[in-house]
This record gives sequence, C-alpha cells and structure tokens, in this order.
Amino acid sequence: GHANEDLKALIRTIPDFPKPGIEFRDITTLLLDAKGLATAIERMAAATHGPVDLVAGIEARGFLFAAALAVPLKAGVLLIRKDGKLPGATIAEDYTLEYGTDRIAIHADACAPGATILLVDDLIATGGTARAAIRLLRKAGATVTQAQFVVDLPDLGGADRLREDGIEVSALVS
Ligand code: 5GP
Repeated sequence: GHANEDLKALIRTIPDFPKPGIEFRDITTLLLDAKGLATAIERMAAATHGPVDLVAGIEARGFLFAAALAVPLKAGVLLIRKDGKLPGATIAEDYTLEYGTDRIAIHADACAPGATILLVDDLIATGGTARAAIRLLRKAGATVTQAQFVVDLPDLGGADRLREDGIEVSALVS
C-alpha cells in the first residue's frame, strides 16, 4: 500500500534471477535494515486479526518473518519445509510448478486440531506455494483464515486465488 513506500524502497529487484527474464524481488536488503525490519514486523502484527496460536512460515525466507512476527503475537512458529527436511513423522502436500511438481511437509504433530494459524511468506506470486500450505494445514486439522506476505505480485493473481479460498490476505507492498 501507499503507506509502505518506505519498505518498498528497501526491497530491490535483481534482473534475470534465477533465470533469464525473471525479475527477482530481493528482500535481503529489507532484512539488513534494522528500522525497516522492525517496521515491517510491526505492520504485519497490526494487520493480524484476533489471537493466533501459531504462525506458519514457508521455507526459507518465510521462516524469518514468521519467527519475528510470532514474538509480538505471542504465538509459536510452525515450519513448512520442503519434503525430506523435517526429522519427525510428517504429512505432505504436492503442488504444481511451471515445470513439474514440488512437495512441502509439516510435522504430523505440529498443531493441535483446531489450532488457529496465520500463514506467512516473504512473497506471493501465483499462490501455488501458499495454497498448498493451506491445504496441508487444513489436512492437519488446523484453522487457517489469514495469510500475510511482505510482497504481493498482483499481476500473477495469487492473492486473489487465496481470497477465493476464503483466506484474508494482506501484503506490505505490491
Ligand atoms: P508462488 O508459489 O506464489 O508462485 O511463488 C511464491 C514462492 O516463491 C514463495 O515461497 C517465494 O519465496 C518464492 N518467490 C517467487 N518469486 C520470488 C521473488 O521474486 N522474490 C522472492 N523473494 N521470492 C520469490
């Protein structure tokens, strides 16, 4: 939004990463800025509705924002990882990429049935990753009603798809 131009200025665009033609939005420069990072977390906390039991972060950059946001929200952190990285028994969900498929997982015992979860990632593009995460969390019995991102790429339609799934979506910058 308009009020977040200060944060937008801390996110840079790297052309041709990870492949030619892609403009990668790089949030590492926001993380390096102490005031910018604190401001981002404050605004994400302010955009959260109601109590949440857990903030679920998507590997890997989503972990950073999820953990920082969980502290002021007095919530725990639930890790959503690429399949094969978690040590305990897991449940997994597949999702489609431009070429092929990928699989994310959570620990099977990570959330109590009915736990209220806020989903967090650094960026939403097509929404494929976030929608798979929501399917996975719901399969585990969790209640997911909100998702927050640092960056939304609205032309790719992911945030709208999440809203069609009944998720309240907010992002700091578009
Ligand atoms: P989607 O599944 O919505 O198409 O893609 C979002 C996922 O890919 C997120 O986990 C996000 O971290 C990553 N991603 C895709 N494009 C970018 C980008 O330009 N910048 C960053 N930081 N992450 C991206």
